[in-house]
Amino acid sequence: MLADLHIHTTFSDGVYTPEKIIAQARVSGIAAIAITDHDNIQAYDRAARTIHFRHLGIQLIRGVEIDTDYKGKDVHVLGYHFDPENQPLLQAMAWTRVGRITRIRKIIQKINQLGYPITLEEVREEAHGSKSLGRPHIARVLVKKGLFSHTQAVFDALIASGRPAYCRQVKMQPKEAVDLLHRAGGIAFLAHPAEIGNPDLVEELLDRVPFDGMEVWHPSILKEKPPHDWLQVAKNHGLLTSGGSDLHGNPGRFPLHLGEFPISYENVKGVIEGKKI
Ligand code: AMP
Ligand code: FE
Ligand code: FE
Ligand code: ZN
Repeated sequence: MLADLHIHTTFSDGVYTPEKIIAQARVSGIAAIAITDHDNIQAYDRAARTIHFRHLGIQLIRGVEIDTDYKGKDVHVLGYHFDPENQPLLQAMAWTRVGRITRIRKIIQKINQLGYPITLEEVREEAHGSKSLGRPHIARVLVKKGLFSHTQAVFDALIASGRPAYCRQVKMQPKEAVDLLHRAGGIAFLAHPAEIGNPDLVEELLDRVPFDGMEVWHPSILKEKPPHDWLQVAKNHGLLTSGGSDLHGNPGRFPLHLGEFPISYENVKGVIEGKKI
């Protein structure tokens, strides 16, 4: 049996609508999924409705991926099973989404200065009304204009960390995100530790922040040389283990379709059941 607990939709920077995600889950035979849009939880209702009206037996877990900053590094916190009406959590996500718009404006300004024509309106249009604007939207606009061959090329040339149009964003600390999720009755996970690119920093985070678990299975582990034993790290810290494909639907980064990065249901059962081992 399969599960996928890290999926993006058009409600953040994913390409597929919640309905398309459910259709893909059905085709791939995935028994349990969590949509984890960046700083946005609105896709859940659309996905739940689709499952209900089509009488599908897919288990849907409430999820989110919250952007935080730790010592100047992007640290993503995955949350599951929280109360979707919890006001402090909703307000914190709204605050981060406003910060995203401010940052996107700055990035666009830099890209314009580098000689590439792009406007905030074009980025908003590409985002199809998503309230959680992100760099992938910028990348897709530049690809559609024929200025780059694929989104990864835009990141590599302009907007990845350290590239000339990159801008940092003021974000909350990982501990704040974890506390918010806990107060909303949820559980909190350190997302894709391999992407942090510094195992010592991951250890420090796990020692200092009250995470319930860590995302052990994620496509970023496929690129690690040498591979790191994240399962052992999770065990050492007494953590639940999670896993997901981080599907966005952008060619060139992570899987393009659900099911391409299979994760065993058994490995992430603790997350699905929402309790500690
Ligand atoms: P943002 O939320 O604006 O910081 O953008 C982060 C998103 O951009 C991630 O969730 C990925 O979808 C994508 N992303 C981040 N870094 C890269 C990279 N180096 N190459 C391609 N895509 C990336
Ligand atoms: Fe993303
Ligand atoms: Fe992430
Ligand atoms: Zn993600």
